[in-house]
Amino acid sequence: MNTTHRLCLVLGDQLSFDLASLQTLNAERDTVLLVEVMEEASHVPHHPQKIVLIFSAMRHFAEALRQRGFQVQYVTLDDPDNTGSVPGELHRWQSLLQPEELHLTECGDWRLEQSIKDSGLPIQWHADSRFLCSRGEFSAWAQGKKQLRMEFFYREMRRKSGLLLNGDGTPVGGAWNFDAENRKALPKGVTAPYPARFSPDPVTRQIIALVKERFSSHYGSVENFDYPVTHADAQTLWDYFLDFGLAAFGDYQDAMASNEPFLFHARISAALNIGLLDLRKLCSDVETAYRSGRIALNAAEGFIRQLIGWREYVRGVYWLRMPEYASGNLFGNTRALPAFYWTGDTKMNCMRQAIGQSLEYAYAHHIQRLMVTGNFALLAGIAPTQICEWYLAIYMDAFDWVELPNTLGMVMHADGGYLGSKPYCASGQYIKRMSDYCRGCAYKVSESTGEDACPFNALYWHFLMRHGDLLRRNQRLGMVYKNLDRMTDAKRDALWDRGQMLLARLDAGEPL
Ligand SMILES: Cc1cc2nc3c(=O)[nH]c(=O)nc-3n(C[C@H](O)[C@H](O)[C@H](O)COP(=O)(O)OP(=O)(O)OC[C@H]3O[C@@H](n4cnc5c(N)ncnc54)[C@H](O)[C@@H]3O)c2cc1C
Repeated sequence: MNTTHRLCLVLGDQLSFDLASLQTLNAERDTVLLVEVMEEASHVPHHPQKIVLIFSAMRHFAEALRQRGFQVQYVTLDDPDNTGSVPGELHRWQSLLQPEELHLTECGDWRLEQSIKDSGLPIQWHADSRFLCSRGEFSAWAQGKKQLRMEFFYREMRRKSGLLLNGDGTPVGGAWNFDAENRKALPKGVTAPYPARFSPDPVTRQIIALVKERFSSHYGSVENFDYPVTHADAQTLWDYFLDFGLAAFGDYQDAMASNEPFLFHARISAALNIGLLDLRKLCSDVETAYRSGRIALNAAEGFIRQLIGWREYVRGVYWLRMPEYASGNLFGNTRALPAFYWTGDTKMNCMRQAIGQSLEYAYAHHIQRLMVTGNFALLAGIAPTQICEWYLAIYMDAFDWVELPNTLGMVMHADGGYLGSKPYCASGQYIKRMSDYCRGCAYKVSESTGEDACPFNALYWHFLMRHGDLLRRNQRLGMVYKNLDRMTDAKRDALWDRGQMLLARLDAGEPL
């Protein structure tokens, strides 16, 4: 075997030609290594479509690298020599090829990065330049701040990127944030364009067969797989969104509707997170669409804020606070995740819709994650580790660096308010206002007590009552506690009793 100078491992969520670790390779002498390993595919029961996406995209990327002249070693899941873990494969290939140097771009997952560091291998690490803000830069920004706020970080990122700025550095439109315009419910009769779909090619079909055989115990359907697995197809998905989705994205960003799994969302997160799309290009396309008059400012600013604000911010928090961050549990929750999260078998229509489409497409949009499945877990006091594992498993775009802060911090407020200033708790009234789910529900959203009352209502007040000692002093919840205090004792008692009864039913393993 030829002497290899450098061996560069590329992980399944690093499938970008611009990856820092790939830039310094000499195609003739150096080798790129990609490995499909059981440990990464099964440390939580990942949705089968997510495993298909990553393995298929890895195989396509390996082929594309070969076509660009790189020497590539590819280890398939069923290779009899496969050790089953990333550190195991790194050790094996180090002794097989005896490279002078091992190169790797920093991981998205603290657990994996730590296990590679613990392996004792002399890795040369590269920063992940696909993000706008490096780990070090975020930590410098956060230094000395007791509480972080996304909005201030976001302004820094606007300044750094130059996106949507006037020549003098002020924000276009005179404000940094137009979120107040982005909270409209979907008017009757409006339907969203289904995102572009991609039929599985032979490589993907082969992986689908493999996944069906090896991961049959994982929840979720593999039959509907229609996601892009190459850079070219991911670009088509994006172009389709630019043409048909983006203009309405701002207005209906928070809306939810029955049997509309994607609405005006881009569905690009999985492709972006694994490297098939480039953050900077997405943002500049959105700015161009705005500057050429094709979309309104609230759509452009809203979309760019998600990408250079929230996405970069949650990553910064993750790397700043791991590994302690993962054990945060402000409310001391211990309740097990209800079984219906894995089946969708519940009479609550909003939960059935959000969970059902998650099982079907490995996708739910942000408000479904935050205000339906997340809100329920918060109100019901689910153990943070269990709900975090569910989100990590069920969504095609879920990687620890982005899933954990969103779930543990934003949804569960388990980090004590480090990431967000208040818990996003809401009663059924919010879901009624932002969706049509309540119309098709067995429960009555107008009622809070009684057997037919929407469970979100009593659970909401029960949550506020049981955590009053921690939440009353939060100024952003002042009005809510005033409303609670204005209630008669009899009303509060009835809400408490109904909440107790619902929680007891969850503890008994009964579906709601
Ligand atoms: C509990 C919970 C868990 C989440 N887990 C993940 C996850 O594992 N992976 C993931 O990529 N996103 C996660 N998100 C964020 C967000 O819900 C998804 O990025 C979004 O729904 C993906 O769909 P889309 O591409 O259609 O997004 P769009 O609504 O079209 O938004 C555009 C892009 O903005 C980015 N974005 C928007 N909001 C966020 C956010 N809060 N954090 C990070 N990026 C954001 C995404 O890259 C997304 O593709 C989570 C949110 C919540 C509330």
